[in-house]
Amino acid sequence: MSARTLFDKVWTAHEVVAETADTPAVLYIDLHLIHEVTTPQAFSMLRAAGLPVRRPDRTLATMDHSTPTQPEQVFGNVPIKLDAAAKQVRQLETNAADFGLELFGMRDARRGIVHVISPELGATQPGMTVVCGDSHTSTHGAFGALAFGIGTTEVGHVFATQALLQRKPKSFAVNVEGKLRPGVTAKDLILSIIGRIGVSGGTGYVLEYRGSTIRALSMDERMTVCNMSIEAGARAGMIAPDDITFAYLQGRPRAPAGAAWDIAVSQWRSLATDEGAVFDASVDIDASQLEPMVTYGTNPGMVVPLGASIPAHAGDEVFDKALRYMGFHSGDAMLGKPVNTVFIGSCTNGRLTDLQAAAHILKGRKVAPGVHLLIVPGSQQIKRDAEAAGYADIFKAAGADWRESGCSMCLGMNGDTVAAGMYSISTSNRNFEGRQGVGARTLLVSPLTAAASAVAGRIADPRELL
Ligand code: SF4
Repeated sequence: MSARTLFDKVWTAHEVVAETADTPAVLYIDLHLIHEVTTPQAFSMLRAAGLPVRRPDRTLATMDHSTPTQPEQVFGNVPIKLDAAAKQVRQLETNAADFGLELFGMRDARRGIVHVISPELGATQPGMTVVCGDSHTSTHGAFGALAFGIGTTEVGHVFATQALLQRKPKSFAVNVEGKLRPGVTAKDLILSIIGRIGVSGGTGYVLEYRGSTIRALSMDERMTVCNMSIEAGARAGMIAPDDITFAYLQGRPRAPAGAAWDIAVSQWRSLATDEGAVFDASVDIDASQLEPMVTYGTNPGMVVPLGASIPAHAGDEVFDKALRYMGFHSGDAMLGKPVNTVFIGSCTNGRLTDLQAAAHILKGRKVAPGVHLLIVPGSQQIKRDAEAAGYADIFKAAGADWRESGCSMCLGMNGDTVAAGMYSISTSNRNFEGRQGVGARTLLVSPLTAAASAVAGRIADPRELL
C-alpha cells in the first residue's frame, strides 16, 4: 500500500460509502458532542420523524455557550438572568432526558466547554471521527482525531444515523521547525500560521501540523493550535498522536484501561503519516523567529508581532472598513494601545496551563485601574485545579473577576459582553465584528500578553514581566 497521511488513514477507516463524482461519502462518526445552542432544531427533527438517537452511547451533552458564569446563578438560588439562555438550558435538560443522553448539567462537576471536557475525560481519542455543532471542534484534532464542526441539520443527521455525508478534503502539511523563544506561546504560533497562509489559506483542506516544534508542544498547547485551524478556513487540523498524547490520556475516566490500553496505543501509533506520503499543499514555518502576536482587525489573519505597526493595504475597502471598526489606522504601533477589558478563557486558552501562565504574570501585581479582567476556566475541573494550585487566589488578589466555567465572553451569549467601542484583549479565537458584544473591539492574544496588558492597562509585551 502506498504511503498515507494521518488524515487519509482516519478518513478511510470511517468511510462507510466512498464518494463518487455525484455523491459525497458516508462517513461514520465515533463521537458526537452536543451543547444547548445548536441542538434544539435537531431534536425537533427527530421528534417530527419519530426517530430515536441512534447511538446515545456515542453522544455526550454539556452546557457551555449560554450558561452564566456568576456563581450565584450556577450554584445559588439566583435564576439565570437571560431568558433565552435559561430556555436553552431547560430545553437541553428535557431533550437529553427524552432521548436517553448523558448530560453534564449546570451543577455537574464534569461540566465545561465542550472542547475542553471531552479531552479532559479521555473521551476524545486518536483515530476517532468527532463532530459537534461548533466550529472549534477542530480542537480535538490535537489527539490525531478527525474532528470538525457541523451545522444544526447535520447534528440531526448524526443523531439519526451516526453518520454524515461529506466530500473528502485535501491534505495540507504545516511544517514547523525550531524552538519557540521565551514568551512566545502556542497561541502566537497559530496566529502566525494564520497570518502567513491567510483566513482562506486552508479552505478545502485538513491541516496536519508537523515538525519538531509541534512534537515539543504539550497537549494543552496542541489543542490551542488545532482549535484555530478553522480560522485559517480549514475543515480540520490534526497532529499525529505520540507519547505526549498517550501520557495525557492514560488514566483518564473514559480512556481505555488494562489490556485494552495496550491494544489501543499500538493502534494509535500506526496513525502517524507514513514516510514519503504526499500532501496536496504545504507551508514551512521557522518557529525560532516568531514573536508574541496581536490582531489589529476583524479577522484572525489581520495579525502582527506585538512590536509591529498596523500595515497599509491601499485601495482595499474591506481592510479599511475593519480598521474603521477598530478605530485604528495604518502605521499605528500596537504596543501601548489602550485596554478596557481583558478576557482570559475559551476553548482556545481556558485550560490549566493557560491559567498558570496568567498567574505567573499576575502574581504580586495589580490589574490597572479601570480595566476589567475576567478569567473564566474552561471547565469546572480546571476551576477546581486552578483553585488548588493557588492561581485563583493570585487572580483575586490582582483584582480579577474569577468565575464558573463556560464560553462566556468568547461570544457573549450568556450576558458576559464588552460594551460598544471598548477594547477587549482576549485569549479567544475570533475577533469578528460584534463577536464579544455589539460594537465591541476584540484583539486576540496569548494568555501571557493578556495578563501583561491587564496589568499595564495598555497592550504590553509579556517578556518584560517574565
Ligand atoms: S469558547 Fe467560544 S469558540 Fe469555544 S466552544 Fe465556546 S463559543 Fe465556541
